[in-house]
Amino acid sequence: MSAVDVEDIRASHIGETIQLRGTVSSISANMIGISSAFYCCSKCGCSYTVQNEVPYGKPTKPLKCSEEAGCGATKSNLELIENQSTFVDFRIIHLIPYSGAMGAEPVELVVTNMETSIEHGTGVISEAQIRSKEIKGHLVIPYGFADDIELIPMRSGVESQISDSNASLVRKICNNICAEGDGKAPLNHIYREAANANVSECVVDEVLSQMRMTGELFSP
Ligand SMILES: [Zn+2]
Repeated sequence: MSAVDVEDIRASHIGETIQLRGTVSSISANMIGISSAFYCCSKCGCSYTVQNEVPYGKPTKPLKCSEEAGCGATKSNLELIENQSTFVDFRIIHLIPYSGAMGAEPVELVVTNMETSIEHGTGVISEAQIRSKEIKGHLVIPYGFADDIELIPMRSGVESQISDSNASLVRKICNNICAEGDGKAPLNHIYREAANANVSECVVDEVLSQMRMTGELFSP
């Protein structure tokens, strides 16, 4: 199964499980959700288990205790029994296109039981179910739901070519051009200056994409 970049999620992916790929732009703290809620009637002891989608659903409490199996009491008599319900840890990660494409909305990936340690700017791949979080009028907002994620190398595998001195050189070139050009730095101008300093275009691309990620740069 080939990986789908977050920018390539389409309507046909909703409800499907795919290999989702992106670059981490934010990671939440751990949160706790309820995946299975166990309610017990305080009048007759009847119990009800409600499965719940983490994190966007809220467990739906039964409307009342069953007339047939139980006592028919109103739902205020149904209590959540925590030690028989199931709680899960999850984090919400935002992914931007791994391809480096600009302008796409970050896609949320809900990761339960995450064991991989990741950082801002890390490339990740994850077997994720694509779900729809919200329906506003006709607009469906997709998100991914996954058990864990894997790290993948930086785009185009040039990470090792970027020394700190090259990175600061590209930043300096960029800032100088911006200063001369009214805050704008044309990409070919940056490439030319970098080439003069013996820095290849792919290193420039990588540093610029890091600068975009940290918010230092809005548009090359
Ligand atoms: Zn009851």
